[in-house]
Amino acid sequence: MLEVKTDSEQQMADLSVGGGCPSCGGALSVRKTPGQVWGYCPSCRRLSQPRMAVGPRGIVLMHRTAAA
Ligand SMILES: [Zn+2]
Repeated sequence: MLEVKTDSEQQMADLSVGGGCPSCGGALSVRKTPGQVWGYCPSCRRLSQPRMAVGPRGIVLMHRTAAA
């Protein structure tokens, strides 16, 4: 049984995803807050809002491609 702990104060998580940067392929520092995920690449200083999912090989980041 999977127990999900919901703590109203501690719903944030910081993680680093190697190769997660859509621009330079560098390691992306991801901060998860309630309702939002922010990604920041220290290499090219790109800020992004990826969608995070858990795949078979770990955490997968999906970036929306702006078709503007
Ligand atoms: Zn980058």
